[in-house]
Amino acid sequence: MTEGSQGNDVKALLTGDKKHVLLLIHRNPDGDAIGSAYALRRVLRRIGHEVTVACPSDYPFNFRWVEGIDKMLVGDRQPQKVRQSIHRAQIIVYLDFNTFQRIDGIAQYLEEAAAYTILIDHHKEPLIRADFQLSEPDASSTAELVYRFILHVLDRADLIDRAVAELIYAGILTDTGKFRHNTSARLFRIMAELKTAGLDDLKIFDLIYNSLQEKHLRLIGHALHNRFVHWQEYRTAFIYLNKDDYRQFDIKRGDTEGLVNYPMMLSDIILSALITEQQNTIKISLRSKGDVDVQQLAKRYFNGGGHKNAAGGYHQGPLEQTINDFRRAVAEFVTAQMKNSKSTS
Ligand code: 5GP
Ligand code: MN
Repeated sequence: MTEGSQGNDVKALLTGDKKHVLLLIHRNPDGDAIGSAYALRRVLRRIGHEVTVACPSDYPFNFRWVEGIDKMLVGDRQPQKVRQSIHRAQIIVYLDFNTFQRIDGIAQYLEEAAAYTILIDHHKEPLIRADFQLSEPDASSTAELVYRFILHVLDRADLIDRAVAELIYAGILTDTGKFRHNTSARLFRIMAELKTAGLDDLKIFDLIYNSLQEKHLRLIGHALHNRFVHWQEYRTAFIYLNKDDYRQFDIKRGDTEGLVNYPMMLSDIILSALITEQQNTIKISLRSKGDVDVQQLAKRYFNGGGHKNAAGGYHQGPLEQTINDFRRAVAEFVTAQMKNSKSTS
């Protein structure tokens, strides 16, 4: 954690007079981006600031319960409002992303900003500089870092109420894949503190995960039955979806969330992917087990990044070409990884 005088500056800035604060989160916001932003929004509003949240794209339907999310500025629809909020902001906080690529067109307006900047993020190899940085790749989630920011930088443990605890939990729950990766003793201690603050974790779990519509279950069935490929020799399996699938199943943003985890359920799998044909590009989501580092795979072959066991990127397509290139990348990458793990074990 960044400590010392910088931390004192931020504390003074955020506990002083009313400020206009802008919280920025990445495209296709997930539970961690949303939970982090809305937990921090609530805390900053309670100490008297005016807070705006902006994102390039809309939030997924299973986060509609988040208080204030209906007022989120969406860059794709309201670019001028986002731009004005950047001009007005005295403080801008970058949450849950480490490269301006992930906020698309919003990035260009930041060049016009005069604000003090704060980065709170847990992605590896940050490409963003800010006046205050809390960048810790070992943290489970940005939400965990926001929690620690509220406690140790703002020094306001008293502001962790039930609503803040629920939002922090939403971020932790989703970014650890339901506590399946990036857990630590520190994280479970934080969970205990969130429970003490009144967290109803089962309620939030149901809101996020058990709130599907029928079309979602039918899409899972279709994906596993018709769009599932298993390359045993590379211990890799993936699901792909084309534009027709998007039409047939009325797939909207967020509807494919979690699909990438199904191939991981096979015992011999070390690498899983979800390859989706978007309007102008092909998106690739990657997951891995153990030491297989998909951040490297995403960075090297797909112009992306992320974490060791969860990463993503893009390919220009068309879909068949993406799958061919993915096969070549996996062949190279997994073979090297398997060799490494043999030579070290
Ligand atoms: P998901 O597969 O859930 O979309 O993304 C998993 C993780 O991969 C995210 O937390 C994010 O860190 C990273 N990620 C996904 N897509 C991209 C991308 O296009 N560029 C970069 N740099 N990281 C990405
Ligand atoms: Mn995150």
